[in-house]
Amino acid sequence: MPKRHILLTPGPTPLPPEVLKCLSEPIAYHRTPQARKIIGEATAMLKEVFQTAADIFTITSSGTGAMEASMVNFLSPGDKIIAAHAGKFGERWAKMASHYGFQTVEVTSPYGFAIKPDAIEKALKENPDVKAVYVTLCETSTGVNHDIQAIGKIVSKTKAILVVDAVSGLLADVFEQDAWGVDVAVTGSQKGLMVPPGLSFFSVSKKAWALYEASKTKKFYLDLKLYQKAMADSDTPFTPAITLIIALHKALEMIKKKGLKKHLEETAQLACATRAAMTALGLQLFARERVSNVTTAVVVPDGIDGGKLVKIMRDEHGVTIAGGQGEMKGKIFRIAHLGHITENDLTVGIEVLCEVLNQLKFNCDVKKAIAAFRAVLGSKQRLKIGV
Ligand SMILES: *Cc1c(COP(=O)(O)O)cnc(C)c1O
Repeated sequence: MPKRHILLTPGPTPLPPEVLKCLSEPIAYHRTPQARKIIGEATAMLKEVFQTAADIFTITSSGTGAMEASMVNFLSPGDKIIAAHAGKFGERWAKMASHYGFQTVEVTSPYGFAIKPDAIEKALKENPDVKAVYVTLCETSTGVNHDIQAIGKIVSKTKAILVVDAVSGLLADVFEQDAWGVDVAVTGSQKGLMVPPGLSFFSVSKKAWALYEASKTKKFYLDLKLYQKAMADSDTPFTPAITLIIALHKALEMIKKKGLKKHLEETAQLACATRAAMTALGLQLFARERVSNVTTAVVVPDGIDGGKLVKIMRDEHGVTIAGGQGEMKGKIFRIAHLGHITENDLTVGIEVLCEVLNQLKFNCDVKKAIAAFRAVLGSKQRLKIGV
């Protein structure tokens, strides 16, 4: 096994040393004023990063737990929804809805492209009985950022609520829940928040609360009312992953200290630099529009086995990147640049990528790639979402 351990995956992401330290402290009991203070403060800081005044609740689960909570709490069997998707994660909304017996109108774009807000507008006009529109901020499987701001403008004029999977996008791509008219936003601890997997979060607007009251779907662990009741006292209805909440509190403090805007700008710059490095290598980006700052998805060159590339980088060089999911398996690879992933991590990642590509007989020039990477970082380019 190589000694090096560099994680360049879009979740889990590396942890800052300050967060790692929290995780080695003796375990805390959660029903104490001290724990409530931490939960209350962490929730308040979460509202700052969601940019919302809405309620936010913490569930002990991976991100999908909060996705499920944002379906079962607002709908009744037979209700109609729109699931807009252009990749593996967006498809999860449609899958989940069919599991619960919700009628689903699917609005799609090809992989590598963004959802067209006009298509959502059209679907809403044709289906005025739609209760909720489900979309994704960053489609992690393709590296595309969907235009939530434009979609929010459309949905907020209707009776439907807008639910956004911001699991990977939050803290990497710009996201403004209230200003954009988003009713429910969902995220997880293991991506931009720089905490291990195990916590998920979802916010609930007043408009969404009205749908909760009408919802007849059966739920127990995910019942919003239980979370609301407990949160009145900065508490959780069941044993929270308290260690992770303490770590979350630390990570949010770090982000707050740096400033959300600066944090987003740094991520945007690393993303932009990584894209430039890939292009300099003669590689093609998979995302064709609205490229996200979460992860760069790259087309595996003809004649190269994408699975082998990922495996050699990980097992022989200690650099873990992500392969493609589903039908993109072997055809793309993904390099993340969110959270605590640093310039140095990415530099080593690009060097190793070049070495392995050359070994697999794809000629590329590492010096060119690193020069392109550094040129962007030196140019002080500002926050950039699309290319
Ligand atoms: C990671 C991710 C999820 C959540 O997956 P979990 O494995 O349940 O944490 C959901 N949506 C997107 C866009 C993601 O990137």
